[in-house]
Amino acid sequence: MKKYIGLEDMSHVNCSSVLRVIQAHGEISRKQISEITGLSWGGMTKIVNKLFEKEYITEEKSEAPGGTGRTPGMLSIRKDRHLVAGVDINRIGLSAYVTDLSGSIKRQYSEENLFEGKEELLDNILRFFQNIFRDFDGHEIEAAGIAMQGGIHGENGVSVSFPGCEDWKDVPIIDMLREQFHTELYLEHDPDCMLCSELVSTGGDHVILFRIDQSIGMAVSLDGTILRGNGILEVAHTIVVPDGKPCRCGLSGCLEAYIEPCMQGGQINSKAVEEMIYPLAVTIHNMACVFHADTVILAGNLMKYASLFEKELLRELRKMQDGEKIQVRFRNDAKSAVSGAALIAARHAIDSIRL
Ligand SMILES: [Zn+2]
Repeated sequence: MKKYIGLEDMSHVNCSSVLRVIQAHGEISRKQISEITGLSWGGMTKIVNKLFEKEYITEEKSEAPGGTGRTPGMLSIRKDRHLVAGVDINRIGLSAYVTDLSGSIKRQYSEENLFEGKEELLDNILRFFQNIFRDFDGHEIEAAGIAMQGGIHGENGVSVSFPGCEDWKDVPIIDMLREQFHTELYLEHDPDCMLCSELVSTGGDHVILFRIDQSIGMAVSLDGTILRGNGILEVAHTIVVPDGKPCRCGLSGCLEAYIEPCMQGGQINSKAVEEMIYPLAVTIHNMACVFHADTVILAGNLMKYASLFEKELLRELRKMQDGEKIQVRFRNDAKSAVSGAALIAARHAIDSIRL
């Protein structure tokens, strides 16, 4: 790693910062960019011109009232250049968005993910990527973020385990994909992607997100920063009912032992849902205490059936909270993992621009 930052590096950093500011604001004037970034007018103008030259941004000019010439234009991200992809690989299905750097969707993909074992799952994933990259000629997609269920080792690009696939162990999925598709690829834990997408619209300083379907995943954001680390925040096999239901891991009373039976083969089991309410409330309460959370988001496929447990869950939580008020939000948005993955890809693409 380099020990110093040269002028050239500084210029890349500044280009990324300016583009990030434009992305975050949608439309913005040169004056505002200069104010927000603290760059001099000259420095800002130089960067903006480079971003024009490389087709990252566009300018909307309007006639000044009274016909006294043109007012300075508003800058925004170009919608027809520099594309990225977000892909969600989960037990039930594969889905993807191809977006521009502002997050506008160009094309979406979705298909079932039926597999018996590792080879079939890998085939499904490769075929899915081939479809996407064929449509975009292979070179237009500059980065792809992959939201993946199960255990991941993000930095090494290794998918450690995958729900419902026993022989899927330590698969170097990023290396395998990079060999075929020449683009930058980033592997992310799926609840992190969902949280990333939710944070764009949700307030709250300390936010916890649980993705619940046949298993449960968790993501945490403290003051806007998502906590990262391999193997951290795994709540599925925390014991919530001592000597409770037997779990497939060999222990008894794990949270997952209560979550897993709720949805089987696409069918909801209302008795299992009833039994899941208290253990889930205990988990939410415990994690909200640990992270001093003010907002908890419940997402994932089980939220399609939130009406079956929402009231009772909140009642159980209130008993535990004793005056503390945490906001609990139920989000039934199957696409938040994929849009979060695309957002993460766009951020990486912006951070690594070299002009
Ligand atoms: Zn267990």
